[in-house]
Parts: sequence; structure tokens; C-alpha cells
Amino acid sequence: MLNGLLKLIYDLNQSGIITIQRMCFTCTYYQLENGVHYCKLLKSKLADNELRIDCPEHELQL
Ligand code: SF4
Repeated sequence: MLNGLLKLIYDLNQSGIITIQRMCFTCTYYQLENGVHYCKLLKSKLADNELRIDCPEHELQL
């Protein structure tokens, strides 16, 4: 359910409805491979409950 909620937040952000800037899904360090979330900065897999919506290390994807 959390994953679905984060996806909804991401979609609303992409649509310009909300302006959350520092979530994993918009971060250059974020990677999704075979359904596994990964942070290239932390060099660590991220469980669904570890995905961030306001990360201080966030770097916006260009
Ligand atoms: S740096 Fe923060 S926002 Fe970016 S992928 Fe890692 S945990 Fe997510």
C-alpha cells in the first residue's frame, strides 16, 4: 500500500498538482531494477518503507 501511495504522490508531482521535490522517485541516485529499489548514493537497497519523500541528499534527475 505504501508503494502505491508513493507512486500516486509521484504521479501527482509529475502532473504538477503537488510540488514534492525530494522524493526517491525523482532522484538521480534512485534506481529500480527487477522490482527492487536501490539508492546509488547510499549504495543500498531500499525497502518500500525506506523510500523517502523528503530526503536531504536528494539530487533532482535532469
Ligand atoms: S539520495 Fe535520498 S532521495 Fe535519492 S535515492 Fe537515495 S534515499 Fe532516495
